[in-house]
Amino acid sequence: MLAKGLRSAKAQQGLDTVTLFSFNFNTHTDLYPMILSFYREIVSVSLKSQRFDLLSTDRFLVEVQQVIGKTTVSCGMEGISERLRRSLHKNLTEEQIYKACEFLFERGIRELKIFLIGTGLEQPEDFGEFGKFVKRLGDLKSMSDSNVRIIFSLTPLYYPPHTPLQFHECLTALEDKKKIRREVERICKFHNMEFRESASFEEIWLTQLLAMGDRRLTPALIRSSITDGFVYYNTVPRQILRNWRDYLMELGLSEGNYFYAKEKDDIFPWDDIDLGISKKFLWEEYGRSTHFTEREYCLGRPKVEAQCLGCGACPSAAHIRKLTQHTISQPFLMDEIRRIADDKRNKIILRVVVEIEPTMRLVAKRFIGVAIARALMLAMPEVVPYYQSLSAHLRDFGEEMVTADFAYGINVYHLAFLSNDKVKDLLNNESLSLRLSSVQEHCRGFRIKEFVLSPGNMPDVQYVLYRMSFSKEFTMPFIQQKLGEYLHANYVKHTLLKGMIRRYSG
Ligand code: SF4
Repeated sequence: MLAKGLRSAKAQQGLDTVTLFSFNFNTHTDLYPMILSFYREIVSVSLKSQRFDLLSTDRFLVEVQQVIGKTTVSCGMEGISERLRRSLHKNLTEEQIYKACEFLFERGIRELKIFLIGTGLEQPEDFGEFGKFVKRLGDLKSMSDSNVRIIFSLTPLYYPPHTPLQFHECLTALEDKKKIRREVERICKFHNMEFRESASFEEIWLTQLLAMGDRRLTPALIRSSITDGFVYYNTVPRQILRNWRDYLMELGLSEGNYFYAKEKDDIFPWDDIDLGISKKFLWEEYGRSTHFTEREYCLGRPKVEAQCLGCGACPSAAHIRKLTQHTISQPFLMDEIRRIADDKRNKIILRVVVEIEPTMRLVAKRFIGVAIARALMLAMPEVVPYYQSLSAHLRDFGEEMVTADFAYGINVYHLAFLSNDKVKDLLNNESLSLRLSSVQEHCRGFRIKEFVLSPGNMPDVQYVLYRMSFSKEFTMPFIQQKLGEYLHANYVKHTLLKGMIRRYSG
């Protein structure tokens, strides 16, 4: 079913990558069959994010990721020490993280992103433990002869409703914990690791307020969203936070009304939403968290006899059994995935020459390439299993380049397909010219001028030559000035090179 859906999405969206998002990707029952069937359909399968504890016992998954070309891995470490991880009920020891990293480094991954959570409870001994760990990781990297780029990404703790943390004082929203951030950053950089901060204090403050908030906040929300017109897009400006504080004050409220430590019998705005988990259970777990102790979580996994903790979420004994006895399906044969990977190396290129309308001049170049792949797959469903990705001048499609790049006029795209007799038959020049009008029906804003299968080596496009006609009275400096102004006004990145504008007569 999923593979069928993916095939249809591939054609409808011109996809070349599928990314599976989950907090705990590697606990999925059908993990291996899913990776295999997706990898058959699409050139790149990406998994975000994974659990260190499961990776540490599943060397096979690391190998599979290497074969399918996944070289970037993201994992959650959360607390910077075992004490803090226990308070977050993470069930993750330093040894498990280390073991997982050992497998990853051995397998030559290029980038490891480790997510950390700043709890506001960090003490010197936690920083000490973190410093030793980061050093150990650096040593492991050198011993493994790995060039992996390690990035630590720190987010302040968010205290979500319906979890034990709902009772906790919202420390990270009450105060900007700059010292913690600076110290974690210092430790990472000292050991040559990269550091990023993934959420600002303002974002955490507003998120936490809205999560904990009740109806009393409605007037402030209306003022901020409707009167001030604030819409969240990547960031919460400091002024928005100041406005919110003023609005709260006018309502006779403050953040303290929401961020204080709650008692067992406090009433929460979400208490009337029954998720089946008893408040008593959450309160007891909260007690464990504040004493930095934890129990094993209830999901069955290799080498752990999982037990039901009695949270009340499962409606029957059968549901409980399903969770505690949960297993991940047996890994498929490695040979099979290697064979698919080998087949994928054998590619054939289809060159497509397109003419892009001026109205599309601010559209990223990659977008048109994806639209061509889509049009081709919609008009010729038989090519869907064989389409791989936009190819050749891939540097043109790099993420950072996208906003600086533009496409307009004649452009050349290269589409890669699996190479076999069937594809050669489907995409030969004669059959494609017969299908050109039906492919064209799925194109808007550009027109396909030509298809060429296996075009041979194409020189990389470095420059585009434009020929423009001006009246004789126009001087060169005037043309240069006007052209520059025009390109600038139309957001076209450009450099006018001396001598590159030439005058021809006739
Ligand atoms: S098995 Fe079900 S009821 Fe028991 S702790 Fe887990 S989720 Fe809760």
